Amino acid sequence: MRIGIGGFSHETNTFNPWPTTLADFQGPAGQWLVAEQLTRAYQGTRTVLGGMLDACREEGLAVVPTFFATHGPTTGVISAAAIRSILDSLVASIRDGKPDGVLLNLHGAAVAEGFDDPEAEALQRIRAALGPDVPIVVVFDLHANIGPAWADSATAIIGYKTAPHTDFYDRGREGGSLLARIQREELRPTIALEKPPILVKSGLMSVTDTPLAVIKPPMFWLMSRAREIERDPRIVNVSVAAGFGDADVPAAGMTIAVTSTDPAAGRAYACELADLAWQLRRGFLTDLVLTPVDKAVERALNAPAGPVILADQGNNTAGGSPGDGTAILDALKSAGWPDAALFIRDEGAVAKAVEAGLGAEVEVAVGGKLEPTNGQPVVVRGFVRLLSTGEFVSARSREQVRMGRTAVLDCGDTELALTERPTSQIHPQYFRAVGIDPRAKRIIVVQSAHLFRDAFEVEERIPKMVIEVDTPGITSPNVHRFTYRKVRRPIFPLDDCEWPH
Ligand SMILES: [Zn+2]
Repeated sequence: MRIGIGGFSHETNTFNPWPTTLADFQGPAGQWLVAEQLTRAYQGTRTVLGGMLDACREEGLAVVPTFFATHGPTTGVISAAAIRSILDSLVASIRDGKPDGVLLNLHGAAVAEGFDDPEAEALQRIRAALGPDVPIVVVFDLHANIGPAWADSATAIIGYKTAPHTDFYDRGREGGSLLARIQREELRPTIALEKPPILVKSGLMSVTDTPLAVIKPPMFWLMSRAREIERDPRIVNVSVAAGFGDADVPAAGMTIAVTSTDPAAGRAYACELADLAWQLRRGFLTDLVLTPVDKAVERALNAPAGPVILADQGNNTAGGSPGDGTAILDALKSAGWPDAALFIRDEGAVAKAVEAGLGAEVEVAVGGKLEPTNGQPVVVRGFVRLLSTGEFVSARSREQVRMGRTAVLDCGDTELALTERPTSQIHPQYFRAVGIDPRAKRIIVVQSAHLFRDAFEVEERIPKMVIEVDTPGITSPNVHRFTYRKVRRPIFPLDDCEWPH
């Protein structure tokens, strides 16, 4: 049995004005892997593709590596040329490989010029190329916007169960083992999809297996029930995709996907979970979890002990922000530069610091230049304490992190790291790499909605308190700040609607 493995991954923030081009996929920060390059890059890794490869080896299935692409930090809409190239490369490599089964790693929240659901397009083309009998198993992200076409083309779909995502590998492996069982004709599953009209933006769907992380109630209860349902022998997989409300497309929003061997049971469970999501929907409202900027800084300064993490929700670079929002920087300046550390992306400010040189005092207008809702530039005066290439190897993932040239300014007791590229400080090493000890700070600002929690809270137990800050910017979880044109209506919380289900 020969199994084709491939896919593509892009989480598109349609409110980001900067498009994602072919160069972003093919450049140093992206990935464009053809045939054996895929196996070389992912064999032995704790990723979705790594899990798929391991499962195939254990099950004695021959792997046909096909094509995989992912992007760097750019998250705007994928250009027409890039998506054409991705779809053509993926579909042709799978068709030419003549596989007996296919494992796909598709993020599920891609948007491209001309395609509101390019993953569905990929699935339809692959299905058309292979015919109706070749099983196709897809593993997707919890932040996927799944359209109805997925269920028509795929045989089974499996989503992550955690955010921050810590179960990539397990889900990849689950996909591989499931495909092996299908190949042995032990089962022939079908997919039941339900889409309760709930739109959730980044940051509101944290859900984890680990006891220490803060859990937001709706996703916790939905995922707990999903796991219970999976104990029913007729049920193959239950996935709750919170969706990616940062993409304005018709399919944006939550999806319940139940893969089962009994279509009636699968449908009934999908409806039950969709009803539960609808009952719990008010738990996703932002005013339950977000704190205004000034209040957040005040609370952090008055907290009995530090460090306090301020999570900049509007400038979550992993969710699509260009990373130069200034709301918290401005509040720290107003507070007289307290004991704090933060990152801002600003190429011009880095150049000025480099030009001034180590130890020099500079005055520079920082941030607020790349995206209209990211605030105004803030004029700061500080000493250039460190200059670096901004490169390090992540101790967690072993991946190279390239922040671009980096300058740290000491502004009073605030340490301001300026980088040329957007960064998401999802683990403490970002701070240590530029000479900042996060444990020693009163306030640590991260441009991250929730991905930081795994390393900071669960692994290292650094913060005494985490405050999710209601900053402006395109990744703000507050849907009311955005003009949606394409998403299906009515949808909660844009509309205070009923759902006659
Ligand atoms: Zn995700």
